[in-house]
Amino acid sequence: MPRDRSLPIFEIESDLRAALDSKNVRIVIEAPTGSGKSTQVPQMLLDSGKCDGDIYVLQPRRLAARMLARRVAQERDGRCGDDVGYQVRFENVVSRETRIRYVTEGILLRRLLEDPNLNGVSAVIFDEFHERHFFGDVTLARCFGVQKIRRPDLKIVAMSATLETESLVGYLGDGTQHLKSEGRMFPVEIRYSPAKERHGDQLWDHTARAIRERFREMGKIEGHTLVFMPGRHEIRKTVAALKNASWTKGIEIHELFGEASPNAQDAAVGKSSQPKIVVATNVAETSITIDGVTTVIDSGVERRSSFDARRGISTLTIEKISRASADQRAGRAGRTRAGVAIRLWSERDHEGRPPATPAEIQRMDLSEAVLVLKAGGIEDVRGFEWFEAPNPQGLNAAFSWLTILGALDPEDESLTKIGLAMSKVPLTPRFARVLIAAADAGCLEYFSIIAAATQGRPIFPKQKRRSSDLTLDDFREPDDGSDFQALVRAWSSASSAKFNVGHCDSMGINANASREIGQMAQQFSKSVRRLSNVEHQDREPDSDEVARILLTGFSDRVALRNSTSTLACSVIGGRCGQLEKDSVASDSKGTRLFIAGEMIEIEGRNLNVKLNFATRLEESMLAEILPDDFVDKVGAVYNETNRRVEAREERRFRDLVLESRPRGEPPLDEAAEILAREVMAGNLILKRWDQAIEQEIGRINTVAAAFPEYEIPSIREEERLLLLIQICDGGLSYKQIKDRAVKTAIAEWLPPHQYRLLDQFAPERIELSSGRSVKIFYDPDPAVKPKISVLIQHLFKVRETPTIANGRVPLLIEILAPNSRPVQVTEDLAGFWKGSYAGVRTMLRGRYPKHDWPEPES
Ligand code: ADP
Ligand code: MG
Repeated sequence: MPRDRSLPIFEIESDLRAALDSKNVRIVIEAPTGSGKSTQVPQMLLDSGKCDGDIYVLQPRRLAARMLARRVAQERDGRCGDDVGYQVRFENVVSRETRIRYVTEGILLRRLLEDPNLNGVSAVIFDEFHERHFFGDVTLARCFGVQKIRRPDLKIVAMSATLETESLVGYLGDGTQHLKSEGRMFPVEIRYSPAKERHGDQLWDHTARAIRERFREMGKIEGHTLVFMPGRHEIRKTVAALKNASWTKGIEIHELFGEASPNAQDAAVGKSSQPKIVVATNVAETSITIDGVTTVIDSGVERRSSFDARRGISTLTIEKISRASADQRAGRAGRTRAGVAIRLWSERDHEGRPPATPAEIQRMDLSEAVLVLKAGGIEDVRGFEWFEAPNPQGLNAAFSWLTILGALDPEDESLTKIGLAMSKVPLTPRFARVLIAAADAGCLEYFSIIAAATQGRPIFPKQKRRSSDLTLDDFREPDDGSDFQALVRAWSSASSAKFNVGHCDSMGINANASREIGQMAQQFSKSVRRLSNVEHQDREPDSDEVARILLTGFSDRVALRNSTSTLACSVIGGRCGQLEKDSVASDSKGTRLFIAGEMIEIEGRNLNVKLNFATRLEESMLAEILPDDFVDKVGAVYNETNRRVEAREERRFRDLVLESRPRGEPPLDEAAEILAREVMAGNLILKRWDQAIEQEIGRINTVAAAFPEYEIPSIREEERLLLLIQICDGGLSYKQIKDRAVKTAIAEWLPPHQYRLLDQFAPERIELSSGRSVKIFYDPDPAVKPKISVLIQHLFKVRETPTIANGRVPLLIEILAPNSRPVQVTEDLAGFWKGSYAGVRTMLRGRYPKHDWPEPES
């Protein structure tokens, strides 16, 4: 198949060739989607004769890597795996001849780790750089570093449809070549069509309705229709809704997502003389171009994984896409001629959306990343030259989790032997740790099934369709201590049936999901097997072993049932959990502790999680394996109900309270401090701590600030707590402290000779020059000036601002009208008489004509 030389990217071919001649080549290519970047630029590099070695093309998506390699191989009249190939996780279609390799991020990173100098690689192309995937950022930083020091001949190209090119060019520094192609775009009309409540539609019904209206309006259907859906489930539902409708007769309907069959994928993208509808994930947003699309229907959402650093869980949620993504999607309708994009949300919703999707580094679990970077010899991960630094909280969480897993040394955060082994397993650190432990026990195959089953699609369809359908419960055996045991048995029965659809279906098991789990498990076990010396890995562990091995990677998922009669649990990390009701751990006999194999955040509820796939745990086992994580403590705790401090004896596993029972009287000093803190927090109120006390503290703080030379201790937060502790001394309950004297404690704060200074420098009252005495209001906060409030009539004979503290502190004067309402606050009384008094006088004289209003000074 010949290359399409009319693609816009050929405009920059000669500039690109020229740019390859210098040393330290860094090129940023910006061209709209469909211009030919992904298919043509790698070939231009290869055909330039300036790249002797391999050309790596980094793709964020597996599907794109596969399809691009197939396409480019065809364009070069070869087969995929000849001079053009691809490598994605668990799939290698390359040979010794392969020069252009489309790869995903993990592959490039591992290549970099195995050979930091990238010998034999001439160029690395970072495609779709605007998506800002974590490993894309990291590998770019590494390649850039390698080029600077050891490989000036390594060519670096970053490509994107919508690039924040400024920052990237800035990062890559002087000498970066910036090539742009405008491409061709036809106008796209944007329409907003939110779901109408009265229809009560599901997303797919709403979509079908929108397509139907568009087709009606067109009369004769021109061009193809591209529908964006968040994931496979929604795609399948949409396809079904369309196929069931009578008006779609004669229209091809295709699906496009990562796990669809290669034939289905090719059919979705391939040429077609008939109008077709392609229902796709966001892979069709910028990675893959379908020619001839004139209508885009955009659901406005995508599946996005993110990691909650505070709660320590990853979530895969459906999120609204950004405005930039919506524009990209709409643009797909205007590639060959003018088109229409229909957004299934309102314009108002649109305006409230973020302009762009935040970079992955700001929302991911960084532990895997930290591990891989450490293994790559980057000791100072915190000081890494990030294109965009991750949030420090997330980074800290990653370091402490890796330390708990034993991957990092607690002393100096260096990589341990286990950490190094874990870094070689293409799984989350949690499962890497578990599988390594399983391999040491010869149970790798068994645990690989567990790992795959928790990552893949469920073996049992969500809804039980027939009463004869089996459930997990049917695969249990009396001695089971883990829900995983039944799960593995269920999978094994599907495996024994050779994943035969009919056979599995008769058991209510999803044959395809089971087959996929089996394939995934094989890959897992293959990657871990080489790390272990144990030859046979097919042993089936008993309940006790399942718990022990799981614990290596799940010690942060230890949960405690609140009682035998409820499914409510406490989980490490201060979370509350709800245990699945048919779990082995939900018995009413004696299970207290268990490991949650799956923890799902209950949406919108802070710190609430659902706990699935439990494995029972004995406390003795926990104590034996992780003895250092137990804390026994006798201490005082505040009981809110009776407002008393009580002594309790507690036994904890990390922050999980396993046992807590009352034990005699608490130590009095601890009790006083606990009560004092409750008072500080405003939960308990001392009857005698009134405004006069605050005034007294204000006086002390005023003198302390005005006369630093006397070294008078002021009373701030910390000192206030000390005072309160002193007042609460010997008390155990609110009842005992609520009427306690406060004033003496304050009076004793200062020695008598200092206390006397208060009356001298911060008196309670001041005599004005008119002879009248007024009260001074002091605030405990020294930034708030002492204040007097005086009727304007009483101030007429006072010309200058009165002061205290030997003239060091001028008073703030609140000037009151005859009705005692403030009319002005000033620190400069002389200025007031000269200035604003005239206006104040006019105003007040009108209201109070009988009062005396002296003429203002001129
Ligand atoms: P870009 O990377 O700039 O978005 P591509 O190189 O992916 O552009 O695609 C350029 C053109 O090549 C597309 O507009 C499309 O016409 C064609 N094309 C690319 N991949 C395929 C494929 N798998 N099947 C059919 N056509 C394809
Ligand atoms: Mg592309």
